[in-house]
Amino acid sequence: MISIHNHRLNTTIFLYCLMILLSAPACNTASKQSAKKSADDSFESFTLRFLDDYWKQNPSAAISAGYGKYYELLKIPNQDAFDADIAFSKKYLDSLSHFNYEMLSGKYKTDYKILENQLRSTVWYIDTFRNQQWDPSYYNLSNDSYEIINQQFAPLNDRLKTLSQHLQYAPEYYRAALQIIHEPTREYTELAINQNEGGLDVFGQSLADSIRASSLTQPDRDSLQLRIGRTIAAMKQYVASLRKMLAVGTTTFRDFRIGKELYDRKFSYDIVTDYTPEEIYKLAVSAKNNYHRHMYTLANVLWPKYCSEKKKPEDTLLMIKTVIDAVSLHHAEPEHFVDTIKAQINALERFIIQHNLFDYDTTYPLQVRVMPAYMSGVSLASASQALPYANSAVTYYNISDLTAIPRERAESQLREHNHWMLSILSIHEGIPGHCLQGVYNSKSPDTIKAIFANGAMVEGWAVYTERMMLENGWGNQAPEMWLMFYKWSLRECCNVMVDYQMQCTDYQKSAFVNLLTNEAFQEKEQVEEKYHRAKVSQVQLCAYFTGATEINALRDAYRHQQGKAYSLKDFHEKFLSYGSAPVKYISELMINENKQ
Ligand code: ZN
Ligand code: ZN
Repeated sequence: MISIHNHRLNTTIFLYCLMILLSAPACNTASKQSAKKSADDSFESFTLRFLDDYWKQNPSAAISAGYGKYYELLKIPNQDAFDADIAFSKKYLDSLSHFNYEMLSGKYKTDYKILENQLRSTVWYIDTFRNQQWDPSYYNLSNDSYEIINQQFAPLNDRLKTLSQHLQYAPEYYRAALQIIHEPTREYTELAINQNEGGLDVFGQSLADSIRASSLTQPDRDSLQLRIGRTIAAMKQYVASLRKMLAVGTTTFRDFRIGKELYDRKFSYDIVTDYTPEEIYKLAVSAKNNYHRHMYTLANVLWPKYCSEKKKPEDTLLMIKTVIDAVSLHHAEPEHFVDTIKAQINALERFIIQHNLFDYDTTYPLQVRVMPAYMSGVSLASASQALPYANSAVTYYNISDLTAIPRERAESQLREHNHWMLSILSIHEGIPGHCLQGVYNSKSPDTIKAIFANGAMVEGWAVYTERMMLENGWGNQAPEMWLMFYKWSLRECCNVMVDYQMQCTDYQKSAFVNLLTNEAFQEKEQVEEKYHRAKVSQVQLCAYFTGATEINALRDAYRHQQGKAYSLKDFHEKFLSYGSAPVKYISELMINENKQ
């Protein structure tokens, strides 16, 4: 993939070399270099000014990034505020356009593109996509409040005072939200009810404990309590209003499907790739068929070991499913679940060192922990990467405590995440997936790329590492390991298929259930969860497969270019050194840098 501006850059380098060959006066080259340096310097100071202004304009984003400033601000979501966001973005798009893009070096060219995409996308989301009108779950004060209380940006007393200021206009916030909501989708309305109700916990017992532990003066304490009380009331009122919209017949709800036109634009803003949604869709379908062929071969190999007593089904997919079910009975027990994963992470660490896959040592700030209560109930395991501005660079691998849920549900979770699946999960969430990438991301001094992290790069990386580890011998090439790998991978390509069809076509639930149950071997509960998610997200489900497809293509190109000098470790170290930029931009930088 060589884009137009790469081409121009190459031409510049070529002329530059020619000048040296013709022994051009040294001052020419020197002045050219210093002009480039000063373009980079002024771009760098521009981004610092921009960022502080950006956080002030988007205090909620500042909280998510761990910036530690402007947390007291709460943007009341009325039309003026949205207009101001558009004006802000247009102003900075104009500032960007005054830079001579061609004079910037590779790193800054990429930052330029990332900022440009971010600002254009902000304008598009507000004036065209308009989810601020049809997604009531957009409005929720609990997440930011949780962060203000728990981030270590200031001593407890100051954090509580900040929270108090932040909540001062909570009633106005929810009133404005109700005014701007127009023809929401039923699904997002239900989601908003659940999430706002769930969010009330943030203002419960543990906050009361923090206030008691603080040394706030009595007046500060009283005013904080008053504002918390008003916030709770406003959230409940918001939930009640949304419930009423669902109950009475007078509200018009729009279809959850956004349609092809919006989908295409959202795909290009969110993913940032040269692939079209249709190209990715076709690749996903052919990957699915390819996985089925491999699984059929593997299931035949495993049949005598696991199913010799049974009659072999004629139907290919049913035969595969029979073997999967039998293999899935090998799993950890709820009591040993956390220890099993801890041991697995240690084994994965040893493996990537022994196989020379990364410049890794075990002092990397990575911790396995039981999932904190406020995150639990959503998934079996997850990764928490350090925030871009956080002082601590620790990334966490969070694991659910399965002894805390009913035995039957725990067993079902464990069959799904059986012995082999569990190690793929640990590769994806832990090492060398999200946690390891998080460590590299916080080592990278590249703020712009860390802040405006590209979801397809982040998910694509975790997916990329799954196959890479197996190819390098994780699981000893056991047929069980590969069978489960393909089952896992079917999720990723089916995610693309259902997302596209749900959002752009008249795809029905029966077809959805049929695909995931019969062709991706998923359980009823998983299928229902996915169906819900496919109605309250668009494009995001494509991030996994698209990102991994791009990374594999880049690795091929890089290997080809490097020839004998190529090593997998070198590819990984280089790739991760660019922070969480879109793979498309990393490709341009990696391939170019190497040509110089
Ligand atoms: Zn160019
Ligand atoms: Zn992931």
